[in-house]
Amino acid sequence: MSMTCRVYLLAVLSFRLALATPMLLKISYPADYDAAAVVTAISDWMADMGTSVWSLSGLRQGDIMDVPTRNAITAPSAKWKNATMPYLFQNGFRPEEKVVIMRGMKMIMSKSCFRFRPFRYGDSDFVNFVHDEYGCWSYLGRVGGGQMISLQRGNCIQTGVVAHELLHAAGFDHQHNAPDRDYYIFINYTNLDTEDFEHFDKASASEYTDFRLGYDYKSIMHYGRTAFSKNGLDTIIPYEKYARIGQNKIPSAKDYKKLNILYGCNEFL
Ligand SMILES: [Zn+2]
Repeated sequence: MSMTCRVYLLAVLSFRLALATPMLLKISYPADYDAAAVVTAISDWMADMGTSVWSLSGLRQGDIMDVPTRNAITAPSAKWKNATMPYLFQNGFRPEEKVVIMRGMKMIMSKSCFRFRPFRYGDSDFVNFVHDEYGCWSYLGRVGGGQMISLQRGNCIQTGVVAHELLHAAGFDHQHNAPDRDYYIFINYTNLDTEDFEHFDKASASEYTDFRLGYDYKSIMHYGRTAFSKNGLDTIIPYEKYARIGQNKIPSAKDYKKLNILYGCNEFL
């Protein structure tokens, strides 16, 4: 191989390499963030605790990573172009972990026209799954650039957790923070530490819509009865006596319907 040819190859290779490692948004954890406590809480989580594993991630409402200028969920700019979310895996995910994450994506794709596909050169917006951050969390909606979805190794890598975080990234907030939630659930603040009150702040009506589908106890975006409880007693009490809340496994019919409305998946409506 001639020298010129080698130099050219090297140039092409380094150019490709530069493209292959796109810039990611810098994470800004809250000032009082206790990473070690989050790691322990997530590791110790068990399915029968009555709380969602992602609620233990130490962020706003548990698992929402904010950017300084937060996009509202209803802002058109927070939607993904062509109903498509390109994704990348941070190096080091194990094959069996990728299978679980892919299963979460496939589950959503099976009931929607929304698409997840591997990152391609030239994609300006994408999600990057990472395993070495703290907790399970996502940004709300498309932020622009490479935005992370954190899936702490272990309990965060479950199909339901992946689906929940992907729905955040697609643009959906928690159901129990809906502006009209007080008609459907009672928040028992006596079982909450004051510092956790903020997790139950209601979204403003101008930033939140349920497309008139009505409140959804069955949503995968709804936390369970003991979310953020300081004493193990209920913090979220549904007014409908037998309503079961906080299922962490699969998106509900209304979750899918909202996704399909937001992204114009008419064939699924
Ligand atoms: Zn969440």
